[in-house]
Amino acid sequence: MNPKAHPTSAETIAQFERYVIPNYRRFPVTLVRGEGSLIWDAEGRQYLDFFPGWGCNLIGHCPPRVVEAVREQVGQLIHVPNTWYMESQGQFAQALSERSFGGQCFFCNSGTEANEAAIKLARVHGHAAGRTRIVTAFGGFHGRTYAALTATAQPKYHAGFEPMVPDFSYIPYDDLEAAATVIDHRTAAVMVEPIQGEGGVRIPSPGYLEGLRALCDERGALLILDEVQTGLGRTGRWFGYQLTEAVPDILTCAKALAGGVACGVMMAKTEIAAALKPGLHASTFGGNPIACRAGLATIETIEEDRLLARAESIGARFNCHFESLRSAFPDLVRNIRIRGVMIGLELAVDATPVLSGCLERQLLINVTQGTVIRLLPSLTITDAEIDQGCEILTEVIRHLPPV
Ligand SMILES: *Cc1c(COP(=O)(O)O)cnc(C)c1O
Repeated sequence: MNPKAHPTSAETIAQFERYVIPNYRRFPVTLVRGEGSLIWDAEGRQYLDFFPGWGCNLIGHCPPRVVEAVREQVGQLIHVPNTWYMESQGQFAQALSERSFGGQCFFCNSGTEANEAAIKLARVHGHAAGRTRIVTAFGGFHGRTYAALTATAQPKYHAGFEPMVPDFSYIPYDDLEAAATVIDHRTAAVMVEPIQGEGGVRIPSPGYLEGLRALCDERGALLILDEVQTGLGRTGRWFGYQLTEAVPDILTCAKALAGGVACGVMMAKTEIAAALKPGLHASTFGGNPIACRAGLATIETIEEDRLLARAESIGARFNCHFESLRSAFPDLVRNIRIRGVMIGLELAVDATPVLSGCLERQLLINVTQGTVIRLLPSLTITDAEIDQGCEILTEVIRHLPPV
């Protein structure tokens, strides 16, 4: 097989139907190459990507410094196990620690694994004191493995997979009164997203994270923030909690962490991390040299190209487009929720037809919770690309069936 001659999208789809488990709904397109906010399919059609890599490609498709670092690393050392020291893992851990709360890192390969590690650490830390309960918020999303899935308080994700992991409790998001009735001497940790991503880009009220922090301190529970989606610059800060006064005990990050290369991390305050003694938790591929070099190159790109500051101006430009849509169609736009390049546009109608309308016009977006158009554009997107994509998007929305 000549890898240079692409099979057609139809050929690849036929192959999937025969050989790949159909557990995903996929667009009928094979993507073959990407650069920045642009991506091309097997037929050579170009798309503008407002949702690159489901949030993983925060600095665009094939960011040059990451490509270079990975190319260099694969020729030196692809993998060594965590029974040895690796330069790049130590450097990446230091870089993340210095850009957050000064704790220590455990590396893995995905968001759900980072959350499993956080839940295990919280339990082993609280075990002797009888603190085993994990409290999470309705509408949250924490991953698909069992503990992270149990933490994901959305019935549609549990259905058919019960029984779930014991001793989890759920509270309404952005409701401190409810939190105060649930967090107690049996609580190991409270785990929430600083902004609920999959839950519809739900931004909590000012003071919510600070309130949870205070409740956790008062009742002796740990605060875990799931920054798998908000992390490494998406909100215009390295981590979403840095938009608030609250500091977590444990933080998880993945998606954008290594410029699109698979990588996850759990960071914990050093005195808490000490509970994870040798032998208690592990990941074979976690912290491998390729992922860590990619992560370091991602941080370097964000700093040298001043992309954290850019997050805010990108968000503002999307906001402008959506505000004009709202003034023209006040009945159609229910809410606009934007923090940096984490963007939610809630419609008063089913938003799923917008997906195919945009795809036809070669714009890639996401819809979550039925009515929310979710965009996670790259920090490297240009103003012209934003304007071009927003014109397509607002055009498609305007032609939705009337409310
Ligand atoms: C995507 C996501 C996860 C799961 O990450 P995977 O890498 O798919 O396991 C967990 N938490 C949040 C907030 C996410 O957005």
